[in-house]
Amino acid sequence: MSEFDWQDYAPETQAIRAGHRRTHEDEHSIPIFATSSYVFKSAEEAALRFTGKQPGNIYSRFTNPTVSAFQERLAYLEKGERCLAFSSGMAAIMAVGMALLKAGDHVVCSRSVFGNTVLTFQNYFGKFGVETDFVSLTDPAAWEAAIKPNTRFLFLETPSNPLIEIADIQAIADIAHRHGALLVVDNVFCTPILQQPLTLGADLVVHSTTKYIDGQGRCVGGAVVANEELIEKYVYPYLRTGGATMSPFNAWVFLGGLETLALRMKAHCDNAFELAKWLEQQPAVAKVHYPGLVSHAQHELAKRQQSHFGAVVSFELQGGKDHAWQLIDSTRMLSITANLGDVKTTITHPATTTHGRLPPEARDEAGIKDSLVRISVGLENIDDIKADLLNGLTHC
Ligand SMILES: *Cc1c(COP(=O)(O)O)cnc(C)c1O
Repeated sequence: MSEFDWQDYAPETQAIRAGHRRTHEDEHSIPIFATSSYVFKSAEEAALRFTGKQPGNIYSRFTNPTVSAFQERLAYLEKGERCLAFSSGMAAIMAVGMALLKAGDHVVCSRSVFGNTVLTFQNYFGKFGVETDFVSLTDPAAWEAAIKPNTRFLFLETPSNPLIEIADIQAIADIAHRHGALLVVDNVFCTPILQQPLTLGADLVVHSTTKYIDGQGRCVGGAVVANEELIEKYVYPYLRTGGATMSPFNAWVFLGGLETLALRMKAHCDNAFELAKWLEQQPAVAKVHYPGLVSHAQHELAKRQQSHFGAVVSFELQGGKDHAWQLIDSTRMLSITANLGDVKTTITHPATTTHGRLPPEARDEAGIKDSLVRISVGLENIDDIKADLLNGLTHC
């Protein structure tokens, strides 16, 4: 698939070098191919391209050199055979469902996935006769019990948001395969730098490239990575027809994002670990959710499955919602936004924002308390992040 095989190179190198086929202009930095269509040398060549008998560009809904470079680079990092880019993370998740499901199929999904993922399965696939059951992320027995003869795939996100629980990818992949189902993993929180679900037995990985892969909060995008067969037979025909395409400009931004991803993830995780340990010592804090802490229920699993513990930390305050809101409002530097994976540290109150649409009983069941605050730890100096929180933690 490449004019040069980057297979044996380290991820840091792949993230910088893979995917770019230098043109006759000898450019060092990858160009943005702002073109919707391509010119064929003859009618015959056009016909060969359209039938797929000759590789090459056809139309930028499904072939664009800048987007292809991004796809190739991310495929290397995820250790997958092929990647397709989409206009957003939700478009990538929608694509997996549209490509693989039919009326009468069944999905098992972890309860603690991204809110719009729940709505996609419940409200949209549900409308076309696909039933979804939601189970506890951390209980493999519950996954197995929920599987039916018509279960097409299992879908999970690990670590989860906002409680940072960890799923055993390998165990759940084994369960899926024993029952003839596929496993889809949303790898947004870890990125391939911390965890490569395909190497643990997952069949498809989905990404919102909006988060750490961009890393600076500029563009919205998504991706699906899997083996050649799943992509060629199912996902690619849907992208070509459905058209939720990543733009060349966004692909160019994400290519740059990948180049510094390994460095950024390490710095993000170091800051987050330090903040988690510090929060655990604050009298106003009742509980910290971070898999790097020995107090975390899946600390050992996280150590085994991830190369670092991630950069999202959440914690419960001694007080309730008022205390959480006061703490958030007392910060001066942190951005009050529900986004994550940015160089800027963000702070949010899940119960009234990202998870506010859930009925209170569902929120309780998911363990998302009114006193819970979530921080996506950025790359500012850790002492400045602590200082910004300290005021609210000591005076509220
Ligand atoms: C943001 C996010 C998505 C959705 O991605 P968009 O790019 O916003 O469409 C899916 N899963 C997770 C875990 C996310 O954080």
